[in-house]
Amino acid sequence: MRERPLIGWVMAVQANFYRVRLELPDQPELLCVRRARLKKVGVQIVVGDRVVVEEPDWQGNRGAIAEVLPRRNQLERPAISNVDRLLLVSSLAQPEPDPHQVSRFLAMAAPLGCAVLVVWTKRDLVGERTVTFWGDRLHQWGYPSLAVSTVTGQGLEELRGQLRSGISIVTGLSGVGKSSLIQVLAPREQLRTGRISTRHEKGRHTTRHVELFPLPEGGHLADSPGFMQPALTMTVRQLMAAFPEIQFRLEQDSCQFPDCTHRHEPGCVVRGDWERYPHYLNFLAEVQEHGDRLHSTRTTDRAYKDKSQHHEPLLNRKKHRRPSRRVLHQGQDAGNGSDIEVGEVEL
Ligand code: GDP
Ligand code: ZN
Repeated sequence: MRERPLIGWVMAVQANFYRVRLELPDQPELLCVRRARLKKVGVQIVVGDRVVVEEPDWQGNRGAIAEVLPRRNQLERPAISNVDRLLLVSSLAQPEPDPHQVSRFLAMAAPLGCAVLVVWTKRDLVGERTVTFWGDRLHQWGYPSLAVSTVTGQGLEELRGQLRSGISIVTGLSGVGKSSLIQVLAPREQLRTGRISTRHEKGRHTTRHVELFPLPEGGHLADSPGFMQPALTMTVRQLMAAFPEIQFRLEQDSCQFPDCTHRHEPGCVVRGDWERYPHYLNFLAEVQEHGDRLHSTRTTDRAYKDKSQHHEPLLNRKKHRRPSRRVLHQGQDAGNGSDIEVGEVEL
């Protein structure tokens, strides 16, 4: 027995087994079970969890997870914890960037509370001016971005440098080059070393499976199938918080009404001719409409006898959510260490 506890990261969950990568260098992954005690108290283990492993069997590469260390945040769909940054992938050509779509994804990602980096792919297909144009545009929106090409290798070193620690998840529309990017950052041939496969691995790509890939220079990368949903399912308040431009204006001045939606209220300091203001209005309508739809569906589902008693205000949908909907508990990454609640995005 070792004196110090063995700590590792959960790389993948396969049925009742957890693939754990130990923090020790040059150790194979261990295929672990969950200790009965954890099961009894209902502790779930998800990809991204930092765990304590006991009774390692170094011959068979097996172990048992005895404890889950506190999570910094947690995303429900896909189930992954301790996410440090989200890479929003969009191509510079084939297909060309759709500013409204990019804006939408940024809004969707914001409530997660982790860092967001926009990665422009297929840089080899466009000229310098296009690269600068999109970089500047995103900068004005308040987001960092980086242009890369998996064909020429442009920008990859810089990207690798930014991913060297923590857990990054990759998301974006299909066809923009996500798989190509993951493949160059975390080549599969390399991944096979020290990795155990189980019979559950077959067909895993057809499900909402999520898996962490170790990056050669440190850090972990995960694809996040299912992250981007067609509907903007957030609260109005979360939507406002998702626009750095709105936050900036509210820091300078305040609207006449504290519950201003920045649409047509008098004395509004947010309304104006900034580039993404029309996006905000679109999303606002969508969020409000979704809130209404959600309300009517739930009322029907529950077959209330007297429907008229169940008109809930839009901003108060929280009370109908199960605790498990609380997808993210923001920890130290909030920046000021305060207890801000940023979670609750339905993904
Ligand atoms: P995904 O659907 O987002 O995973 O996209 P893929 O990685 O499958 O890529 C979609 C298409 O774009 C494929 O035909 C790739 O070969 C191509 N592609 C991906 N990255 C680049 C790139 O940097 N440059 C160019 N020219 N094509 C790329
Ligand atoms: Zn306002």
